[in-house]
Amino acid sequence: MTALLQVRGLAKHFPTPGGVLKAVDGVSFDLAAGETLGIVGESGCGKSTLARLITRLMEPTSGEVVFDGQPMGGLSRRALRRRRRDMQLIFQDPYASLDPRQTVGSIVAEPLEIHGLGDRAGRAARVARLLARVGLDADAARRYPHEFSGGQRQRIGIARGIALEPKLVIADEPVSALDVSIQSQILNLLMDLKAEMGLSYIFISHDLSVVEHVSDRVAVMYLGKIVEIAPAGRLYEAPQHPYTQALVSAIPVPDPERPRDRIVLAGDMPSPEHPPPGCPFHPRCRHAFDRCTDAVPPVTNLGTDGQPHLVSCHLYG
Ligand code: SF4
Repeated sequence: MTALLQVRGLAKHFPTPGGVLKAVDGVSFDLAAGETLGIVGESGCGKSTLARLITRLMEPTSGEVVFDGQPMGGLSRRALRRRRRDMQLIFQDPYASLDPRQTVGSIVAEPLEIHGLGDRAGRAARVARLLARVGLDADAARRYPHEFSGGQRQRIGIARGIALEPKLVIADEPVSALDVSIQSQILNLLMDLKAEMGLSYIFISHDLSVVEHVSDRVAVMYLGKIVEIAPAGRLYEAPQHPYTQALVSAIPVPDPERPRDRIVLAGDMPSPEHPPPGCPFHPRCRHAFDRCTDAVPPVTNLGTDGQPHLVSCHLYG
């Protein structure tokens, strides 16, 4: 499949009084058209910063993003705005991302207005269709965000996100603020839209179980780097990086006859301002050995069937 998105060596470093905070530190991957890539990791691993770098809401320190064959770096403001039509972000907290003073109709119509699409009547008709598509009543357009539940607000955020018929949707923790019963409804809606509209997704979550059923491939991030990326089935069945193994072991298993040995991670993730030398995971890794503390692990491809399974760990290098 052709790559819709190519991310090469993307990094975002922030100067701090104590040194440099490496929020994202050399991330590379491709996303094929129609593919869903899950990106998982603990809070603070850099996954939300990565979303902002890809959409150029934030300038990278280094690295390159090529979207639909066109490098994003160096685009004029106008060209960038045109490009952003095709890549939309959906946020975790739909309440915070929806202007409480605007009606739902004007929130969903706003991207159409910004890009000068249609006249007033045409936009209103499009908004009505979008609201119906995400499962909201027609009168939702006249109401305000606070009149809706969390799940309904996320539906409004999705309607706004797909208004411009993008090619890529980056969903940043789109269900983590919602009750579990509502989460699956929203995930199903996102997957139905993907099939109907031929969307590609980057699906960001701190929760491996959320991305499991929606992702074609999954990337695991730790302290600003991807430590493992593989087809989803393979990553959940046979995780290779010790960090991924710990995360997978913590996913609740529905079958009590087949309990999983849980690997409990020691300590918290270190500050990205002071990442440990060598393998940044070494202070928490139960397999760490001498080399791990002073040499950055190489990336090894463990894929056997032509599908890359990349792992950054000395156990395989
Ligand atoms: Fe653990 Fe060493 Fe592998 Fe890092 S490189 S994950 S410390 S075994």
